Amino acid sequence: MTPQKLYQFVLSEIPFLDFNCKTCKSAIRLTFPMKTLSANLQCAGCGAPFWYEGNSIYPLMQQLTRTLGAYIEKEADLAFSVSFSLVSPASSNLDD
Ligand SMILES: [Zn+2]
Repeated sequence: MTPQKLYQFVLSEIPFLDFNCKTCKSAIRLTFPMKTLSANLQCAGCGAPFWYEGNSIYPLMQQLTRTLGAYIEKEADLAFSVSFSLVSPASSNLDD
């Protein structure tokens, strides 16, 4: 059995979301709390459109950021917290 390490994160500890361009690897970082999500977002590096108004991914990204933002805001008052985990081999560079 390969040794593994488990990294657990509480959802409310997410400080930002990075939207990474698959073409040029540039990232746009949106920090919580997010006021609004732009209806048109394009890569700051190469200009590739991430989404635009009318694009089907835009409402999903709006929903994601609103849901995460609302959860983060309310988490202290809830009787539960939500977390997620990353599993990596023990020798992974996550330890660096
Ligand atoms: Zn790009």
